[in-house]
Amino acid sequence: MENRLYINGKWREAAGSRQFPVTNPATGEFITAVADASAADAREAVEAAWQAFETWSKETARKRSELLYKWYRLIVEHAGELASLMTTEQGKPVNEAKGEVLYGADFVLWYAEEAKRIYGDLIPASAQTKRLQVLQQPVGPVLAITPWNFPAAMITRKIAPALAAGCTVVIKPSEETPLTAIRLVELAEQAGFPPGVINLLTVQNPREVSEVLLTSPLIRKITFTGSTEVGKFLMRQAANGVKRVSLELGGHAPFIVFADADIEKAVDGAIASKFRNAGQTCVCANRIYVEETILAAFTEKFRAKVEQLKVGQGHQEDVEIGPLINQEAVEKVERHVRDALEKGAQLVCGGQRLTGAGYENGQFFQPTILAGVTNDMLISQEETFGPVAPIYAFRTEEEVLDLANHPNYGLAAYVYTSNLGRTIRMTENLEFGIVGVNDPLPAVAQAPFGGYKESGLGREGGKYGLEEFLETKFVSIQF
Ligand code: NAD
Repeated sequence: MENRLYINGKWREAAGSRQFPVTNPATGEFITAVADASAADAREAVEAAWQAFETWSKETARKRSELLYKWYRLIVEHAGELASLMTTEQGKPVNEAKGEVLYGADFVLWYAEEAKRIYGDLIPASAQTKRLQVLQQPVGPVLAITPWNFPAAMITRKIAPALAAGCTVVIKPSEETPLTAIRLVELAEQAGFPPGVINLLTVQNPREVSEVLLTSPLIRKITFTGSTEVGKFLMRQAANGVKRVSLELGGHAPFIVFADADIEKAVDGAIASKFRNAGQTCVCANRIYVEETILAAFTEKFRAKVEQLKVGQGHQEDVEIGPLINQEAVEKVERHVRDALEKGAQLVCGGQRLTGAGYENGQFFQPTILAGVTNDMLISQEETFGPVAPIYAFRTEEEVLDLANHPNYGLAAYVYTSNLGRTIRMTENLEFGIVGVNDPLPAVAQAPFGGYKESGLGREGGKYGLEEFLETKFVSIQF
């Protein structure tokens, strides 16, 4: 497998042959070293994307679709291998990694189909001697910056619609998980995308490279998934060139369980939402609100199942929760738990970093439940990004709606209820981009994914995801 940069259809060393190490978060072991791009490499990648845009943007929709189909088939054929690689560099259980690869592949399939359906409009004119047309054209070369928590899907969710629209791309994956990105690009090369259409810059410290990419007039669009803090920084930088920006940022999802819900399903849903990827997902349940009359029953059933979750190295059979990505992530989880306990929360289970055989690296944390959590605690204000489930009690629908609607976050929310009127009131009044009703895992390739407020800008997935990469041109013809 490659460990170099991919620029203009060629794999090559970074300028000065700089490299950085990639490590396994489960063991701390060195996996390999990959190229560490410099500003000069970034300039070449942008130039390549710009030149390729000339021809790729004029390619037929059918041809673009065919290449996306080929890439899709290759990803699916290599799903097992990609999943194993992802587990090694990211830590998630290998079955979960495979699920992510297939979810990621779905975007490539969906946009292979949609590539052929980018239509314009004809608008009735006010004069017989005029014709009014609306054309949809690719926005230009795109910079895609992705995080480590979904090393495959965050790339395909951006790249597939960009390529379908006729854009070329420069991908900058997370420094924690560059290997999955490299493998995906190798498969894209095998599928036959022309040189310069897809470029890959792996880099350890993104500042220098991103300065070049964000200030280049040749990059017309930034699509980013990651933290709100970095998203705001990129948005400010992009403002100078008035570049189009899509941002998928942090979430702090409320998970609301009403007394009329199927409590078993709510417990299973809370586990699926909270503990997937060890709690390191932007849409995971971060605030579990339970109606007071069922609080004791819910907490007890939840505890019984959470205590059974198996924590370990993602390559081991039956493991359900892998390591956290790095030491800082574990320290953040510890800080949130300590702060909550000091301010009066009760520990229902877990609460500790795991040590001993198999956990020597110190990046494993027990699945944890906290009860009696209140709004003044850190855990109520920030994403924990770890396997900690805080439970809050509520009495009325109005009260929980007020608590759930956060001043800054607005990505995903979940409601468990069997009441139709309540379903409608809650889905209409929750200020979130995604609402799952009795559904803990709503994200699919054909539907829009994105946040309100500081959780983001724009949408990925479905027809909405394609619009992010298109410019609307109005043409008035007088004859
Ligand atoms: P991060 O913001 O630290 O990093 C994300 C990416 O930005 C990485 O590739 C990183 O190298 C890059 N980056 C960092 N500083 C940069 C700079 N100055 N210039 C250019 N690039 C820079 O986030 P993370 O820790 O990798 O991911 C976790 C965060 O992502 C969480 O907040 C999570 O909620 C969010 N997330 C959101 C979604 C969504 O769809 N809304 C999906 C997954 C993750």
